[in-house]
Amino acid sequence: MRALRFDGTQPVLDPAAREPVLSPGDALIRPTTVGICSTDLEICRGGTNFVGTLGHEFVGICEEVHLPPDAPASLVRRAQAVKGKRVVGAINIVCGHCDLCRTGLSTHCRHRTVLGVAGRDGCFADRFTLPVMNLHPVPDSVDDARATFAEPLASAAHAAGMLRLQGKTYVTVLGDGKLGLLCAQVMARHNPSVRLLGKHPAKYGLCDRWGIKHRHINEVGRLQDQDVVVDCTGSASGLALAMQLVRPRGKIILKSTISPLPIPPGAPVPGANHPAWATPVNLAPIVINELELIGSRCGPIPDALALLERNEVQVDQLITARYPLAKGVEALTAARSGHIKVLITI
Ligand SMILES: [Zn+2]
Repeated sequence: MRALRFDGTQPVLDPAAREPVLSPGDALIRPTTVGICSTDLEICRGGTNFVGTLGHEFVGICEEVHLPPDAPASLVRRAQAVKGKRVVGAINIVCGHCDLCRTGLSTHCRHRTVLGVAGRDGCFADRFTLPVMNLHPVPDSVDDARATFAEPLASAAHAAGMLRLQGKTYVTVLGDGKLGLLCAQVMARHNPSVRLLGKHPAKYGLCDRWGIKHRHINEVGRLQDQDVVVDCTGSASGLALAMQLVRPRGKIILKSTISPLPIPPGAPVPGANHPAWATPVNLAPIVINELELIGSRCGPIPDALALLERNEVQVDQLITARYPLAKGVEALTAARSGHIKVLITI
């Protein structure tokens, strides 16, 4: 089978990748459409330690399930609900037994792997596996292209769920990439004063269509008057700007995972005193202004499917290119250059 892999140096299309092996509780999925995320690009830049099949945003057919003989009723029920169906899935693979799993923090499982990101091959392939319990059937009214947004949209819904958005809350979303555009849409449903700050005039047209306020990042005063700032910039400068925009005792939601220093594969790691390791942001305003800084990662897939099914979030307009898997390497190159969302058809 084919798989689009990061080999430690560059992305390559492997025409003869190893077939995935199902563990008890796993499902075999044949993806039909997958989405390229900034995390995939970060991996290809050598910004993480991941080597293997890329990809974690997918919609596909659950072709096979492998249930252990002593499968609990909940697993049997989920298997019946997804087998042979069109599915999307949560990307954290968790143990279910550690202290965090047992106390409801399974997305932070101590033994977790992440589809196509950490310790587990991803979905940019003809076939891949995920635990049955991670899968959710896709409503018929949500087509494949829109369903690939379930994972990033769940992440946006999770960020919105961490906030009280109703009432006179001033919310700024920083960054007009995919995640910023999704967060702004989800949050604006609860609060029409939500505004998006970006750098790309091409994205303003989308905000206009959705009725979302927008400004260029350089056009706004640093007035420390926002109740909430959601940083989706993907850069350390986003946090610095967020601290200039948020009011004292306000909240900053960080969606950006900022690696301090991408070390090219094979390059020597700089010594501890190298300036590249220095914190690139002055964190004093957090103390002085008593700010609340909240990290936010993945969210619940069913919430995202509900938003897509009710057509409450527009995602079609975010798709700017499609490639077949055979041109997967080109798709990754394209995703790096100005596109909003690039999809790969398997
Ligand atoms: Zn666990």
